Amino acid sequence: MAEVPEVETLVRDLREAMVGRTIRETEVLQPAAVRFPTVNEFTTLLIDRIILQAHRRAKYILLSLSGNYLLAVHLALWGTIVLVPTEQNRLLETLIVWHLDQDEDLRLVDKLGYARAAIGPTEVLDEQLDLKSLGPEALDPNFDVDVLARQLRRRRGVLKSVLLNQRVLAGLGNRDTDESLWLGGIDPRRSAASLTPDELTRLHAAIVKVLAEGIALRGTQRDLFGHKGQAIHRRYIFEKSGQPCPRCGTRIAYLRIGGRNTFYCPNCQR
Ligand SMILES: [Zn+2]
Repeated sequence: MAEVPEVETLVRDLREAMVGRTIRETEVLQPAAVRFPTVNEFTTLLIDRIILQAHRRAKYILLSLSGNYLLAVHLALWGTIVLVPTEQNRLLETLIVWHLDQDEDLRLVDKLGYARAAIGPTEVLDEQLDLKSLGPEALDPNFDVDVLARQLRRRRGVLKSVLLNQRVLAGLGNRDTDESLWLGGIDPRRSAASLTPDELTRLHAAIVKVLAEGIALRGTQRDLFGHKGQAIHRRYIFEKSGQPCPRCGTRIAYLRIGGRNTFYCPNCQR
């Protein structure tokens, strides 16, 4: 599942391996994978662009290109990007192929077909994707308990849904939210504004730990070079309904909150 640890792992790989490389040509195999502009404009705008930098905002992979253009990729639930020799056979679920210099491809693959890419002048893309309205990044060194308290203070909604809202806090997907709430010992059904200072401190520490561990283990998916991340073996409660809570032994419960699968311990999350 592509959440922030998976996206961050890919961005670090892209930064290491792709800066200075040139995109020669682009092939769009699934037209729906181009969010904007048109498929023709997308491929034309990418011809001979040099990749200058790779960064991340929430779950967007952002590649700065020569000519002040930005290429944005969103992996949705299961998408990923791989770097492979051009001659390597394409997987059926390949959506877009960027042919690079040195006979290598970057390929956007997604078995569900929901991953999307877009290109535009940097300021235009910022606006079209509404990047400025995203909340503070949970991975930012400036994200401290005061920032979390401020972001949750006036939110009336259910805690889990509020934490998933990227305009409140950029960085938590469904899995990492459940893992953080379990680690912090907080019930996902609470009202966001109801957390005590002690609970905010625990939740903040839990979010930082869950994301840091996910990144240290290089996520749960394959990285840019095809190596599988190890974070899949480091899950506390997500998708473990009926299994014993690692902290108290109570069976992990399942419910839906805001249409999202939610896993929690009915005993030690209060
Ligand atoms: Zn428990």
